[in-house]
Amino acid sequence: NTFAEIDLGEALNLNIQRCKYVKPTPVQRNAIPILVAGRDLMACAQTGSGKTAAFCFPIISGIMKDQQAERPRGVRAVYPLAVILSPTRELACQIHDEARKFSYQTGVKVVVAYGGTPINQQLRELERGVDILVATPGRLNDLLERGRVSLQMVRFLALDEADRMLDMGFEPQIRKIVQQMDMPPPGVRQTMLFSATFPREIQRLASDFLSNYIFLAV
Ligand code: AMP
Repeated sequence: NTFAEIDLGEALNLNIQRCKYVKPTPVQRNAIPILVAGRDLMACAQTGSGKTAAFCFPIISGIMKDQQAERPRGVRAVYPLAVILSPTRELACQIHDEARKFSYQTGVKVVVAYGGTPINQQLRELERGVDILVATPGRLNDLLERGRVSLQMVRFLALDEADRMLDMGFEPQIRKIVQQMDMPPPGVRQTMLFSATFPREIQRLASDFLSNYIFLAV
């Protein structure tokens, strides 16, 4: 019933203490062990449930354990190991802020990219290197079309507030993004889908993007 009981790694456990998280919330208690075990997950989670940490901890921990992963040195493109998709700029920034606190002194680099603002600053951030890219679907597609981001090395994909992303009309953009992760060489991608509701469209997304997944409703 504590975070220390889950094998997340020393540096991350220290950051969790620094954030004053003592007891995992129900979604964290259930989701984190499933994700650390490498399974795909579709989770029912509302805002305020602690879902951000539920997907950030296993991603950061997974990258820390395999940080020496060989990555191509692209001429222009960067190769994130994890992508977190979020419906809005505000939510993307919140996730970015939290993920940065959790990854303090772990060597894991987190960058955020969202639309509605000039792209140049975000390009400069990306050029400094990125392990976890937090993005809104439109801006990520823009970066892909410019050849500045490659998704070939992505090992973790989190879709946050998936129902809201579909309500906002992002389904075609999301499908385009995930298609690029399926390009050769085929890596092993772990996918996690978080949504407050589970209409038919979300279930379809889950069956298209997740493999052999666990369904969690807390
Ligand atoms: P979220 O649902 O991820 O937006 O989290 C809601 C709020 O709860 C955020 O301010 C988190 O920092 C905080 N929080 C998440 N998990 C915990 C925890 N285990 N203990 C204390 N606070 C938490």
